[in-house]
Amino acid sequence: MVVPTVVQRHLVRPLRSVGLFKQVITRNYHEIRDAAEARRGKIAWCTSLGPAELLRALGFKVYFPENHGAILGSFRASEEFIPVATAHGFSPEICSYLTSDIGAFLRKETPLRALYGFRDVPRPDVLVYNTNQCREVAEWFSFFGREFKVPVLGINTPHHVPEITVAHVSSVVDQINALIPQLEKIAGTRLDMNELKRIVKLSHDACVEWKGVLGTAAHRPSPFNFFDGLIHMGPVVIMRGMQDAVDYYKALRKELDERVKDGIGTVEDEKFRIYWDGMPMWGRIRAHSNLFARFKACVVASTYCSTWALDQLDHNDPIRSMAETYTSLFINRTEGIKEQYLINMAKDFSIDGIIFHDSKTCPYNSNTRFGMPMRLEKWFHVPNLVVQGDVCNMRLVSDTQFETGIEAFIERLMLKGVEGGAL
Ligand code: SF4
Repeated sequence: MVVPTVVQRHLVRPLRSVGLFKQVITRNYHEIRDAAEARRGKIAWCTSLGPAELLRALGFKVYFPENHGAILGSFRASEEFIPVATAHGFSPEICSYLTSDIGAFLRKETPLRALYGFRDVPRPDVLVYNTNQCREVAEWFSFFGREFKVPVLGINTPHHVPEITVAHVSSVVDQINALIPQLEKIAGTRLDMNELKRIVKLSHDACVEWKGVLGTAAHRPSPFNFFDGLIHMGPVVIMRGMQDAVDYYKALRKELDERVKDGIGTVEDEKFRIYWDGMPMWGRIRAHSNLFARFKACVVASTYCSTWALDQLDHNDPIRSMAETYTSLFINRTEGIKEQYLINMAKDFSIDGIIFHDSKTCPYNSNTRFGMPMRLEKWFHVPNLVVQGDVCNMRLVSDTQFETGIEAFIERLMLKGVEGGAL
């Protein structure tokens, strides 16, 4: 039996870049707040993998409701707001980002007040979604379109795509092109193609830097883990297309390179290297980080954080590359492509085992429902564990079951003798 050592001190080394991270994120939120509340600019709400570059090129300040959902989850406020959305007809079975966010809106509450001095969530001039991740985002944005009486525009990406074909990309290119005149009308300006190229280049550069940050975790010991990533991914999610995001990741990378040079791991005395597939459980980030560290296990890589390593963006062909990049996402692909991706990640990061999170309200980011964990174990000998939980609704999480499952999994890895890397 694995007995975790009871400790009072930190087993996960904090990164000094956290200070800069807070400055950068705060500056971005203050810009949005000022644009919304002093009417200094137009506001667009955008999905986390929507056409943010196009919106920025047209001068919109861009706000991401999914980030608001994640903040509500991290603050463990979702359980209070989800029933409010349920009382307004939204099923408790659907995305808990959505139900948390809509519930908080209906209760006229937001953590943005305490964190960044907002009066309320910023009033949108337009909402723009891409269904490349799920259809929920279209329903979510449609609710707010009705509430604020503003246009809701969308890109409906082909789903469950095997190889990406010219037809897939052309369909999305056509939809992006169709958005342009509608957005120009709302923005009150014409799209400057050179400005779009500049923004796409900044977006690409932030994504490349982010990929480099994640790549440092291939070192043993890893200087960075999944739980660090969940914090530090903020700029690449909500600030793509901004210079601040590029600069931030260069600074973070420098700190991580120093750790690699000095052989410093984020988890003390790293023994096991784990991969996390699926959504995080936002209300348990610190608890899970500490739990893995107590077992000397470092969650070195994840599908979720890697989603924003969008290095195919190409400013020389901005619209086509946006279409291709945002269609090629892992979440939007067939099982065979996902399997191969996970095998490659397991090799690249010297993974000992995979945790699959089956998130109750996000089937799209749960790769447990069509036999993938068993196939990976049987065909590729990748040990794995399926854990039940949820992205925001912590009522759907059993801490005891989670801890027991992780303990048994680590014990299994020890018995297999994988300590030090099996793949
Ligand atoms: S992908 Fe999942 S968590 Fe994200 S918006 Fe869609 S249903 Fe919600």
